[in-house]
Amino acid sequence: MLSAKRVIFIFLDGIGLGPGGNMTNPFCQASMPNLMNLLGRPLIEGPVIQEGDLLLNGIDACLDVDGIPQSATGQTSLFTGQNASKILGYHLPAFPNEPLIQVIDNYSILKQVTDLGGKATFANAYTPHYFELVERGERMHSATTLCVLAAQLNFRTLDDLRRGQAVYWDITNEHLLHQDTSVPANSAIRAGQHLAHISHDHNLVLYECFVPDLIGHRKDLGKALKFLEQLDAFLHGVIETMEPQTSILISSDHGNLEDLSTGAHTCNPVPLLVVGPLAHHCRRLNSIMDVTPAIVSFLEP
Ligand SMILES: [Zn+2]
Repeated sequence: MLSAKRVIFIFLDGIGLGPGGNMTNPFCQASMPNLMNLLGRPLIEGPVIQEGDLLLNGIDACLDVDGIPQSATGQTSLFTGQNASKILGYHLPAFPNEPLIQVIDNYSILKQVTDLGGKATFANAYTPHYFELVERGERMHSATTLCVLAAQLNFRTLDDLRRGQAVYWDITNEHLLHQDTSVPANSAIRAGQHLAHISHDHNLVLYECFVPDLIGHRKDLGKALKFLEQLDAFLHGVIETMEPQTSILISSDHGNLEDLSTGAHTCNPVPLLVVGPLAHHCRRLNSIMDVTPAIVSFLEP
């Protein structure tokens, strides 16, 4: 372990900060009492919140490249500190291609922290089926998975999930129950508590949830409201369980869910929400490219 400093990095795919008072922005309508209590407003655009150990700012995901930001380049930028969209000259959707895999191999946030002597982990649980699909060439690795491989870390399994030592990508295991009924459903608050427990012996815990991007593409308001309620309970579970020296950082790769008038991604800024000592270190961040360097320099001895 590097030091007592700990960071939980929650990556929510497809969440931007959109305008308030808008019927197509589910963040204006969702019941999120814990987040409201923390921020004093919904997770929408507005003045920067910078009070003690709390920071909420909108950061750029367009990265000086024309077009609508996409997942492969956005996530690579977010998890490496490099401008992946500029490297390619365009925004690449879905999964990283060979040039981006090279960038992740060199600059993966998990690798940067382990190279410093820190203990880093990816909290998501994986099924054996996932690796079979990749083996057969029927699936490509996501940016987060490539970050784990670059750092030569182990993947968490369904056994870890059963023991409360992993979290599934949908928070509650709902999607997993279709494939494997041996894993019980989890409440969102318990999933948050599990994530916080993992951070007790790690300097960096990365967690990915791509539910918001899926719902945003489908423009499904009902599902969006249900998910945001779960997200609120999940974040509450993390924050109430994490130790005082631990920080939580939440960000995204591009907007989507905050504008259900379109099924496409948006050019809105994405949230940079930080709770804990790391908040003081993140006040000057402008884009998603600045997130990894800020976390790594915060953890650096
Ligand atoms: Zn995405």
